[in-house]
Amino acid sequence: MSNPSKVLIIYTGGTIGMVEDPETGSLHPFDFDHLLNEIPELNKFDIELEAISLENPMDSSNMGPEGWVELIGIIEENYNDFHGFVILHGSDTMAYTASALSFLLENVNKPIVFTGSQLPIGKIRTDGKENIITAIEIAADYENGRPIVPEVAIYFEYALYRANRTTKVSAENFEAFQSPNYPLLAEAGVHIKYNRFAIRKAEDKPLLARKDIVEDVASIRLFPGLQHKVFKAICDVPDLKGLLLETYGSGNSPTHTWLAEEIIKLNEKGVIVVNVTQCITGKVMQGKYETGVHLERAGVLSGQDMTYEAAMTKLMYLLSCKELSVEQQKQFMQTNLRGEMS
Ligand code: ASP
Repeated sequence: MSNPSKVLIIYTGGTIGMVEDPETGSLHPFDFDHLLNEIPELNKFDIELEAISLENPMDSSNMGPEGWVELIGIIEENYNDFHGFVILHGSDTMAYTASALSFLLENVNKPIVFTGSQLPIGKIRTDGKENIITAIEIAADYENGRPIVPEVAIYFEYALYRANRTTKVSAENFEAFQSPNYPLLAEAGVHIKYNRFAIRKAEDKPLLARKDIVEDVASIRLFPGLQHKVFKAICDVPDLKGLLLETYGSGNSPTHTWLAEEIIKLNEKGVIVVNVTQCITGKVMQGKYETGVHLERAGVLSGQDMTYEAAMTKLMYLLSCKELSVEQQKQFMQTNLRGEMS
């Protein structure tokens, strides 16, 4: 590859790519072949930019394993030709897609930076321009021939986050994301200040892309009054392979005998059950209270301080690793694979 750095911008949809029709005021996606017309500031970069769009850009509520695979295919095909990648994505499920890619793409050693915006590019107060411009800068930032951020990340409103540590916290503020249990990878002010201690070290291994994603998973968010028949209906879903249990506090649940019994039955069927907390910060410690100990005894795995998004996509990823036994999948579920748990 030659200098200047080459960055591939991949448009998947979402608010960021919308412009306002001057006559009707309605929003519609802009033509990505004309990206540079919409953001003329990009011409000032000493970075070679190319843009590509998913076949059918979408609101990110419609994004899922099918879209992830299309995205993974684009990255895989172009991986050796670019220094970095910027993925424009709706913010609603960005934390899921970005977490999913952090697992499904093994041995990432280049920046893959997701960004989006709360206001469309075509709106005068848009947050999209700064987000794209800085995301590109980060994706192209190399030092001594090596990328500064060789991992999957999200850039939003002056902050760079590890993708699989993020969660969307605001539908209103420009600061839409948080990384509750892990420091920022960088902060953008006058300069981009990288927190090098928090950035993963890359390994020089070839990229491996998983595209055969197992979707036989479910989650149950506990609430006071959750009935056995509801819990059982989910446990009895045919072909279920993984279940996330969203528990209280440090991983606690009611001590109903039916709850432990349903979980024991799931374990006997080889279904992997993982405990994640409903709290935004802190972690699951199943040994702390009796209300957690009974889950541990029933065979529930601790999701520790993983976000819901990371735990769900990691579960899908590990279930997709058909070369692993269920026992190995369980072991990896509790192992830090991509910096997703402390
Ligand atoms: N609904 C939009 C989406 O997630 C919101 C956004 O782009 O931020 O696609």
